[in-house]
Amino acid sequence: MNHNETKKGEYMASKQYDVIIIGSGIGGVGAAALLAKKFGKSVIVLEKAPHIGGRVASYTGRGDKVTIDGLELDAKGFRKSLADSRCWVSYCEPDLNTMFEKGLLDGYTFENGGHGLFWGNKSRCRLLLDYLECPVDMPVNKGLGFVDCRTNKIYQVPPRSPYPWQSEEGYKATMAALRQMGSLTLEECAAAMEMDVQTWLEERGLTENEEAYDYIKVVMACQNAMAEPRMAPAGDFLGYMAMARSIGMNLHTGSVATVAEPGCMAIPLAMEKQLVAAGGQILRSTPVEEVMVEDGKVRGVIIRSKEGSYEVLESDTVICNIPPKHIFGVLHPRHFPQEWVDLIQTKFWSPGLLSALIGLKHNVWEEFGVDERSFIWMPGIIKHEGYIGAVDMVMWNMAACAKRAPEGKRDFIFSTALTDKEMRTPQKVMRVINYCMDWFKRTFKGWKDNVEFVLWTPSDEAYGNWRPVGEKRPSIKSPYIEGLYFVGDQYGERMWGGGVDGASLCALMCVDTIMGTNLEEEILPFYHRGIPAPKKNW
Ligand SMILES: Cc1cc2nc3c(=O)[nH]c(=O)nc-3n(C[C@H](O)[C@H](O)[C@H](O)COP(=O)(O)OP(=O)(O)OC[C@H]3O[C@@H](n4cnc5c(N)ncnc54)[C@H](O)[C@@H]3O)c2cc1C
Repeated sequence: MNHNETKKGEYMASKQYDVIIIGSGIGGVGAAALLAKKFGKSVIVLEKAPHIGGRVASYTGRGDKVTIDGLELDAKGFRKSLADSRCWVSYCEPDLNTMFEKGLLDGYTFENGGHGLFWGNKSRCRLLLDYLECPVDMPVNKGLGFVDCRTNKIYQVPPRSPYPWQSEEGYKATMAALRQMGSLTLEECAAAMEMDVQTWLEERGLTENEEAYDYIKVVMACQNAMAEPRMAPAGDFLGYMAMARSIGMNLHTGSVATVAEPGCMAIPLAMEKQLVAAGGQILRSTPVEEVMVEDGKVRGVIIRSKEGSYEVLESDTVICNIPPKHIFGVLHPRHFPQEWVDLIQTKFWSPGLLSALIGLKHNVWEEFGVDERSFIWMPGIIKHEGYIGAVDMVMWNMAACAKRAPEGKRDFIFSTALTDKEMRTPQKVMRVINYCMDWFKRTFKGWKDNVEFVLWTPSDEAYGNWRPVGEKRPSIKSPYIEGLYFVGDQYGERMWGGGVDGASLCALMCVDTIMGTNLEEEILPFYHRGIPAPKKNW
């Protein structure tokens, strides 16, 4: 290994590794830690951003700055850092500079947006962390709230009792649909992977009762971050419904989690510790410029160092953690069939998330008899205005479940799924923000005096680059280049679901593919595994 000094633009001598990983998202660091700790591989992770974690980016306010992964950022640095995870600021009160100068974020822990982690301490992600011997506590919500935006009535949803906003008939139809989805087998969910949710529901008569249909749609939007049932693969949604009984969790008992300070970043940071203890490393601010491919085989990568010099790192195994639509930035399209390139570049799309973080002086839910630890739905806030699907909102006081706000204060998280194209249309984003800001003001007494700050951050690629219905996700092992593997929330033909948990499952699948092991079965209960799986009832 040669660390010779080079001038800007020169190539440095090469170093060799068993495995090179491009990107430090949950999938990338998860696979890296497994390969180093459990298989003794020499592993290097290359991350272009100055912080690790990819789309899992969380911040803690410290005086007039925020910190992330050891970096201290002012308002400008925060904007730049959001951009690293494809997020931006669309609206805030007061303006961002004032928010920072006045230290309004001091003591708050928050993500780039959203980040409710499905199944908390029973998730794939937590099981992976346990296996790596670096558990991170993921406390869940307690209870479900519901805002009927037609009447603006707010309910604590009673478990096992009729939903107060529905008619008797609507409730019966909703329960019948939930029972039907809850008794599916894994094979049935797998078979529904090629079909969209709307078709699956229509074939079973589950679109006939409007109240039940609306309810199923909001559950789907919440789980898959997709508002339009015609765009969502049925299998990905049904898996969540089918596993509820086996995992013994639902929104009433608690099934969406958060992480105390430093927030979700604790997950990649914990994985990195294990990687480093096993001799591996992550290089931050080190973009991969190109994956070297010769005679159909990977040879390594070319990186650009912080100083601007180029360096060749050699390996016959490269794992790419970059989301599908962006891989051609480091992998020349000539290495792949043109139709595959076209499919990914033009047909893959992304469910984005528009999120708000609101700092509050006191709990706003008490006056409505709602437990502030509840996950709260407000579906159908905007309908028939040219959005793809109805706009459904979810809300949660994460700080009521984990230490994420200064003593006595509250955070109020808002999140809604819009498509990538909607998110890139400022009028559509502002319409949603204006609806919500207006709703707060007319619903909560003394709202103006209670609010410390409001911060809206859209992301157009939050939930990954999804395939069109009927297509499979890209394979983990590239069929086109020997030694090239992919890992992340949208890779793997046997993957289902997405988000942090999807990326964790994919990390296991990727390592199994490389090492010929079956960690997936060793670590995960059957309902968390990929499809198809052994025949078992849920
Ligand atoms: C606003 C928002 C809200 C979300 N809410 C939720 C939620 O509620 N629940 C949930 O489960 N999930 C949520 N997610 C999704 C979740 O964060 C992702 O699914 C998950 O983190 C993806 O991990 P990944 O391994 O696929 O990689 P990514 O996080 O996409 O990481 C890829 C990495 O590759 C790096 N990279 C790219 N190009 C290069 C290059 N040339 N050289 C080196 N490095 C490179 C990137 O910088 C990045 O670090 C949300 C995401 C966002 C943005």
